[in-house]
Amino acid sequence: MTHGIDPLDLAKALIAAPSVTPATGAVFDVLEAALTPLGFTVERFIDGIEPDGPVENLLAVRKGAGPVHFGFAGHLDVVPPGVGWTGDAFDPQVRGELLYGRGAVDMKGAIAAFAAAAAATPAEAGTISLIVTGDEEGPAIFGTRALMEHMDARGLRPDMILVGEPTSVQRLGDMMKIGRRGSVNIWIDVPGTQGHVAYPHLADNPIPKLVKILAAIDTVTLDEGTEWFQPSNIEFTDIEVGNGAHNVIPASARARLSIRFNDQQQGAALIEMIERIARDVDPGAKVVGKISGEAFLTPPGDLSALVAEAIHAETDIVPELSTTGGTSDARFLHALCPVVEFGLTNATMHKLDEAVAVEDLRTLAAIYRGVLMRALLD
Ligand SMILES: [Zn+2]
Repeated sequence: MTHGIDPLDLAKALIAAPSVTPATGAVFDVLEAALTPLGFTVERFIDGIEPDGPVENLLAVRKGAGPVHFGFAGHLDVVPPGVGWTGDAFDPQVRGELLYGRGAVDMKGAIAAFAAAAAATPAEAGTISLIVTGDEEGPAIFGTRALMEHMDARGLRPDMILVGEPTSVQRLGDMMKIGRRGSVNIWIDVPGTQGHVAYPHLADNPIPKLVKILAAIDTVTLDEGTEWFQPSNIEFTDIEVGNGAHNVIPASARARLSIRFNDQQQGAALIEMIERIARDVDPGAKVVGKISGEAFLTPPGDLSALVAEAIHAETDIVPELSTTGGTSDARFLHALCPVVEFGLTNATMHKLDEAVAVEDLRTLAAIYRGVLMRALLD
């Protein structure tokens, strides 16, 4: 007996279960109900407390006879709909050729497409797992990393993982991601001594020191980029003194910067470098950094080749292998095995009237099935 899944029907059911990040509950019920009849063993657990949680995570595994374990990773949480939708963001509607709803492309549509692909793949071909979190759009503290610990405790380690984020740009199939840049935010705080501008010898103005620090940082070239990555980039994002008085030397001056970096760099070393520059100017300067994720690269190889083949077979397009864009949960998963990302076109993600072409949902399901067959049987 086979249990076919229509990716449009499942995408609609997932959209109809509102799941603004962090997500728990109904949307996971929908996915579990779709996967269980396919022979998947579904485990769900809830982690974390407010405000970053609670977060629900789902791990679904279907053991196959073949030696390969293929993992598909994604998220069922969505960003808030915002005001101004033509219809209700959580009432999925097909108008013309498009399915509208929050999460249609990012990324309930892709999860529905993968479930349909798994339904159309013989169970004995090999092991398939779905690694699905409710905390990707939020701080991602209790999401994919918690799932990875859970898998580790079960002794489960996929041989390769496909992340279903919307990576296509103009047309389904034109881009996949083989890596992502890392991201770090850094705060600089230069202390001074407050005083009257007419008595500068009794005060210590932090502003010239901060300006010197920023000027020194501005001269830094981190690298020239690599074959697969654009150059790492330092971007100042804020300068703040907050001094409302024209006759007061302020007590402190602060600045913030954001670095998007390639695999030539590491977050901690970047923070140390900024700290060194700041301390050279003012030994009292305080520097605090927060790493959102390290850069990673899955060099072009078997996994990217088989995904590209499956894309080409269904669309006639040879996808560009890219490392552009923001971070994704692939930054955690690449610690397990080779990871690439491929999914729907991203033009409407996070926007009002997010929508996916119904045809793309069906084509994506066919591509994902092609990926599974190549990965499990070749
Ligand atoms: Zn996403």
